[in-house]
Amino acid sequence: METIEFEHPVARSILTRLRDRHTQPDEFRKLAYRLGFMLAVEATRNIGTLPLSVETPMEKTFGETYSQYPVILPVMRAGLALLAPFQELLPESPVAFIAMKRDEETGEAEWLYDSLPDLNGKDLIILDPMMATAGTATSIIDYVLEKGVESISLISIVAAPEGIFRLRKYNDLTFITVSVDRELDENWFILPGLGDFGDRLYQGN
Ligand code: URA
Repeated sequence: METIEFEHPVARSILTRLRDRHTQPDEFRKLAYRLGFMLAVEATRNIGTLPLSVETPMEKTFGETYSQYPVILPVMRAGLALLAPFQELLPESPVAFIAMKRDEETGEAEWLYDSLPDLNGKDLIILDPMMATAGTATSIIDYVLEKGVESISLISIVAAPEGIFRLRKYNDLTFITVSVDRELDENWFILPGLGDFGDRLYQGN
C-alpha cells in the first residue's frame, strides 16, 4: 500500500475547523466539500491521459484529455459528503453505492445494500472520510477486487494507525488521508478525531 498524507496548509486549516466541536452542520458540510475538492485533485494526480489537438483562437496546438473515468464509490453515510466535490471534478464518472453498518459490539461491518456498475478493469476511488478500524473499507476492497478492478484509491480525511495497519496487506492500494491521528478509543472512535462524521453532517444545526 502506498500511503499519502495530503500536505497542504489550506487542507490543515479546513481540518481544524472540521474538528472544532462548535462547527455546526451547515458549515461542516461546506468545509467537507472544500476539502473533498482538494482531495479529488490529489486523487486524480496520476490519472491516464491521451494526446488531444485543440484550436486556440490563435492557432492549433496539442493538449491532453483524461482517458478513463474512474468509478467513484462513497461509503454511506459519511462518504456522501465527498461525492459532490469528486463529481465536480469528474462529472463523467459512474457512481457505485455500498451501504454497510458497523456492529457496535464488535466494530465489524455488516453489508446492507449495494448498487454497482461494471467494475472489471476500472479504476476505483473509494470515499470513506473516517478510517477507524478499516473494517468497512477492507470488506469493500475484498469485494471489488473479486469484481476485477484495475486499481483502488481510498480517500479519507482522518485515519487511525489501527486502520492503516489493517490496510497494509493490499499491495496495490493508494491510501490518501489528511491526518493520521493518535489512536482509537474503546468505542472505535478516532482520537483526537472529529466525532461522528455522519452525525456532524446530517444531524441538523
Ligand atoms: N467514524 C466516525 O464518524 N468517527 C470516528 O471517529 C470513527 C468512525
